[in-house]
Amino acid sequence: MDTKRFSKNDSGFICKNCEREVPPLGYTSRNHCPYCLWSLHIDQNPGDRACECIGRMYPIAVTPHAKKGFVITHRCEKCGEVSNNKSASDDDLSLLISYTNPDNLPKK
Ligand SMILES: [Zn+2]
Ligand SMILES: [Zn+2]
Repeated sequence: MDTKRFSKNDSGFICKNCEREVPPLGYTSRNHCPYCLWSLHIDQNPGDRACECIGRMYPIAVTPHAKKGFVITHRCEKCGEVSNNKSASDDDLSLLISYTNPDNLPKK
């Protein structure tokens, strides 16, 4: 078991929404669950883990992007902050595509 700590904040986590274990992404800081696309309000700036809100952030829009694949717009359940995040390489593609239709987004 490799216990070496990464200098960047790319650690795995347990998703607070679907409760699946999410492994580290490897190439950048992961900021949302690849299975359900929910996020956690832990960053002030991407990857800094400096936010103390820790509210769950749910997807309110998914927009196809020419360069980034998809842009997922999250809103924090707790404080209402909205942020845009690009999709990761192992995000659930069929879920991303289904969420580009607003009717398929989680109802709030
Ligand atoms: Zn999840
Ligand atoms: Zn928040």
